Amino acid sequence: MNSLKISIVANNIKILGSNGTKGLEGGTSAFYIDSENMIDAGNLLKPLGVESARIKNIWLTHSHLDHIIDIAYVLDSYFEEREETLVIKGLKETLDAVKTHFFNDVIWPDFSKITLGNSNINALAYEEIDLYKEYTLGSGIKLEAFETDHTVKSCGYVVQKENSAVLITADTFGLESMISQLAVKKEIKSLVIECSFPSKMEELAKISKHLTPKLLFNKLQTVDNSNLTLYINHIKPLHKKRILEEIALFKGSWKVKILKDGEIINF
Ligand SMILES: [Zn+2]
Ligand SMILES: [Zn+2]
Repeated sequence: MNSLKISIVANNIKILGSNGTKGLEGGTSAFYIDSENMIDAGNLLKPLGVESARIKNIWLTHSHLDHIIDIAYVLDSYFEEREETLVIKGLKETLDAVKTHFFNDVIWPDFSKITLGNSNINALAYEEIDLYKEYTLGSGIKLEAFETDHTVKSCGYVVQKENSAVLITADTFGLESMISQLAVKKEIKSLVIECSFPSKMEELAKISKHLTPKLLFNKLQTVDNSNLTLYINHIKPLHKKRILEEIALFKGSWKVKILKDGEIINF
């Protein structure tokens, strides 16, 4: 993964997983922010390999499996290589769900009770984050969570370096809070928005709190897109062909790119 080392130099993030569910051709949501920080953990192990042992923080958007699954395997597969605690960052409800339903000694070991090697360093820890608070990483990148609209408590992130930023919605139905972020953060140059289902599945999209191309571009109608690039992720692979056709149909003047695993967003 030599290209990953390049990605921390400039203002860019790497897409480790772009799909809305696990499929043969790719992984689910995960973003490489720098060598120590990832957003979501849908697909870390395969693209990063042993490099995943160096991850210090995973910033979660929400507790759904397609966003958390590789936390389990990063800990397990590279346990011997880990030297520091893996810290899971997220909203209180997200962390509570991960502790109660995932690392609970039933589904997977409670790694927060396990220490690394012969040390007294815990393998796993949790740190609650606040919405609308800026967190500065060692690499100088700033992260800020904003609330999103999903079936469980959820957030997206604005990732900023110097004077430019990329906004990631993660799973959401409403885009009001994202549009509010655009109004106050003029540094945002790129948007990553989910689009899970084709428009014929609008009812399911509403119930499961996801977007279709029609809903997405309707909700974006009031947004001035002259300085924005729109990246789309979280497409359900089964419906990809139809979704891409509909995006082309509804996108209007938006500059749109469909994200693929391994792709880099320069922002
Ligand atoms: Zn979800
Ligand atoms: Zn998801």
